[in-house]
Amino acid sequence: MPRKFITVGAIITVGLIAIAALTLEVNVSVKDAWAATNQPSVEDWSPTQPYPTHEVYYPGTEALDPDEMRVIACGSGMPMPRLSQAAACMLIELGNGDKFIFDMGTGSMERLYALGIPLDYIDKVFLTHLHADHMGDLPAFYIYGPQNNRSVPLRVWGPGGGGTRPEWGTKAAMDSMLGMWAWMTGTLQGTIDTRSMSLVVTEYDWSKVNGVVYEENGVVIRSIPAVHFEQSASFILEWNGLKLAFSGDTLPNKWWIEHTKGVDLSIHESIFMPNMAVSKWKFSGEEALNAMTKIHANPAFFAKVMAMTEPKHAVAYHFQNDFDTLPAVVSTVEEIYDGPVDYARDFMVWNVTKEGVRTRMAVPNPEYYPSPPLVEKKIEAGGDRYQTPEWVLDGFPPEVDDVANKIFSDFNEEHGTDYKFKLKP
Ligand SMILES: [Zn+2]
Ligand SMILES: [Zn+2]
Repeated sequence: MPRKFITVGAIITVGLIAIAALTLEVNVSVKDAWAATNQPSVEDWSPTQPYPTHEVYYPGTEALDPDEMRVIACGSGMPMPRLSQAAACMLIELGNGDKFIFDMGTGSMERLYALGIPLDYIDKVFLTHLHADHMGDLPAFYIYGPQNNRSVPLRVWGPGGGGTRPEWGTKAAMDSMLGMWAWMTGTLQGTIDTRSMSLVVTEYDWSKVNGVVYEENGVVIRSIPAVHFEQSASFILEWNGLKLAFSGDTLPNKWWIEHTKGVDLSIHESIFMPNMAVSKWKFSGEEALNAMTKIHANPAFFAKVMAMTEPKHAVAYHFQNDFDTLPAVVSTVEEIYDGPVDYARDFMVWNVTKEGVRTRMAVPNPEYYPSPPLVEKKIEAGGDRYQTPEWVLDGFPPEVDDVANKIFSDFNEEHGTDYKFKLKP
């Protein structure tokens, strides 16, 4: 028999013995095999009770431990919009009840909503910089407050102006945004509760190293400069002995390397390698090299930074994470860094405790409806608020009056109220 066939025969024989041994093992130790999966014991399961544990996170079903931090990627992607990944957005929830949003890139708002958290609980947004893939959904998130039962002002922290373009910065951007929404805010008043239309903007000094951006309730958020043009920063959040770092966008930089050593969760950008920007984005070679080596951290830069800072758990984000892009990203990273790392996708969840980090995927609700309001609704009345001109309202055909009156009488009957249909004040 030729040697090749002898070898194949030997492999088959060894394989059969291995399968036999495995079958034997499974037969004699179902419980051992079960225990190895970290699932509760067989006795804890039942056909009629809920599963005692899940490998996924169903939002709204797990209490946070008082010492625990939960981080959910509501955007892990890029400025190129896609259904599967929004641009940068991380929701951070703490066991003390505080919640923070780090960046709110385009596409992220609907992911935040899909978690079903009352908006009054997610009123604090921290922006690393003003690129649209980090703040593009903020205008919509702000203006949709009233329709989605927010009753409190939205609080926004972002980089100040200064540097070579003092006229830029978050306050200037938010003033322009409010101007853009003048028609919408004006027309909403008097129709629904618009208390959440106020915006509280705090600028932080993006050039400061470890400057305190926020300090309340045992939570400290500091910023360090990012190497990403100017007026850009990264955040370090500390609470209860846990430390999280979020890069926003940055090249590898000395401040990150000095101040994020050994953090519990290190979320850092890791865009494509230049060759992939050419093949996937159809960038020119020059564009690809510029974007991937002079403005953003590519997987090799990411890996080098992680190798130098050795976080307890690393997260690479800010790239299109697909079946045909991930292997090259992983192999580039693994050449340089061999610590624990996740390659973020939207709805990846990290539960962070002193014992370590558990990574799962969340199962969001794609058919969101607003959470109930946390306070009694109040509609603004009177004053010099906007009124639709009479001649426009006169466009409502009198023939429809009966239909409207019936809607009101049916509603009043069902709710025990006494509202009257009246278009004009
Ligand atoms: Zn950017
Ligand atoms: Zn970005």
